[in-house]
Amino acid sequence: MIDQITIQESAPIEQTPEALAGILGIKKPLTEEVFRAAIDNPGYMHNLLASKDTPAFINYLLSHPPASSGKKEADAKVKKKTSLELMAKASKSILKWSKAKFKTVSEEVYNQRLSACEQCEHWQDPPENVLYKLTSLTSKEKKDRKICGQCGCVTANKARLPHENCPVAHASVPGMSKWMELIK
Ligand code: SF4
Repeated sequence: MIDQITIQESAPIEQTPEALAGILGIKKPLTEEVFRAAIDNPGYMHNLLASKDTPAFINYLLSHPPASSGKKEADAKVKKKTSLELMAKASKSILKWSKAKFKTVSEEVYNQRLSACEQCEHWQDPPENVLYKLTSLTSKEKKDRKICGQCGCVTANKARLPHENCPVAHASVPGMSKWMELIK
């Protein structure tokens, strides 16, 4: 059961990719590239978790982590983190997701979030890389492929996840994000 899996904060950093692999049902540890991408890109993590029972799809994702295909800024940012920070972030993201039991937000919240993204200066077309192309295969509309320039996530995916948040403060409402949710 996914919600019973925990990663001990005292565990060595090299065991965390193994724990992630276990959650995804993969027998070998994740590569460093995949691990870094999963930690730094909730959209990628989402796609991995959502695909965990579809071997062909997850194998494709594992072979094409976004950091290896041009997301240099995020990679550089992740490289600056200490091992402990990486482990803490990975643990937090997975545990939040597992506690939510893969639930998604209501249509009302989803539409409110997406509406804010559509008016945001950071909402942009994705770069030409394989992960975003893959995402576009399942998108019904072009706007479903747009990403948040602040975090690199596909907003149509990110906005569905209860534990996700907009990283930018609202211009006129203190303490709130552009999604009009409390800044976490
Ligand atoms: S998540 Fe926030 S910062 Fe990113 S595009 Fe949406 S509104 Fe803008």
